[in-house]
Amino acid sequence: MSSRLQRLAASMTAHCDCSLITDDINRRYLTGMKSSAGTVLCFPEQSYLLIDFRYVEKAKEVVRDAVVIEQENLYEQMAALFDKHNAKRIAVESGSLTLQRLAALQEKFPETEFITDNTLTDALYALRTVKTPEEIGKIKAAQKLAEDALTALLETLHAGMSEREIALFLDFHMRRQGAEDLSFETIALTGAHTSMPHGVPEDRTVQKGDFVLMDFGAVVDGYHSDMTRTVCVGEPTDEMRHVYETVLHAQEAALAAVKAGMSGQALDGIARSVIAEAGYGDAFGHSLGHGVGLEIHEYPVASPNAKRLLGAGHVVTVEPGIYLPGKFGVRIEDFVNITENGCENLTKFTKKLICL
Ligand code: ZN
Ligand code: ZN
Repeated sequence: MSSRLQRLAASMTAHCDCSLITDDINRRYLTGMKSSAGTVLCFPEQSYLLIDFRYVEKAKEVVRDAVVIEQENLYEQMAALFDKHNAKRIAVESGSLTLQRLAALQEKFPETEFITDNTLTDALYALRTVKTPEEIGKIKAAQKLAEDALTALLETLHAGMSEREIALFLDFHMRRQGAEDLSFETIALTGAHTSMPHGVPEDRTVQKGDFVLMDFGAVVDGYHSDMTRTVCVGEPTDEMRHVYETVLHAQEAALAAVKAGMSGQALDGIARSVIAEAGYGDAFGHSLGHGVGLEIHEYPVASPNAKRLLGAGHVVTVEPGIYLPGKFGVRIEDFVNITENGCENLTKFTKKLICL
């Protein structure tokens, strides 16, 4: 298969003479090189990575599909490459290039046209959204770290443990087992706090009869995982059981329906209607899902206004919830690799209500 840079060049040739990429995530996606600085120039014939002294040795080791050039005087080096490839129209990333950076480019290259529409950003999203088997492998490895951490936690989770202790337990376990990072700041909430979908862990301790909601993930080789489980310490009330089962039914309905060609809006609607029919329509105030990859939130989106179609190889979360302020909340989150006829669920952890 052609390289990511070649595929990007092919999708941009009608639009520009060169694509200029400076976004950290996009640069890593295209070259395989993780760094906090660097410039990719992608011409139809050849791509280049200009990168400074701190990274150049590693870049020469890992980058296969671009010529690695040590950055000395960036603008002069860029000018030489624009000349060499006779490039006059340069596409930039509308999604991440700052106005300050654009102004500097326009000042340094007054004869050059910088194309600031969304074409390059959309082309990058289109590439990044469809995961290769290798990328799925990394996402699965990240998910395994998260599930192992939850398994270990449930052996010790008890009344009296604080939200911060729960979060720290999960974080420490994932990092010790080899996570390069956490996907995001771990959410661990107990009791009435569980009604806040993105609450922050506090000193509050688990009481008998509380729900404990945990939303967390690990990063492996740049790729994120994302899962939420809600468990009960002690015995739940009938209402807690009923809400849990409703969320689970909503999620299972969406998981059973998801497949390539469906819109994010349609997928969201399937889960949302199950919750609405149970009388909790106002208590599900966020989107059903989001893409996961080199970023924890990326395309595609499953929300009430997501018109774009889901496709094979897209990884998307399915995370319905019901939140009853002052009482409790439940969210259950898996993420799936979409296929032509359905999906592969990347989350293996049980969803039966666990009562400890
Ligand atoms: Zn999550
Ligand atoms: Zn999520």
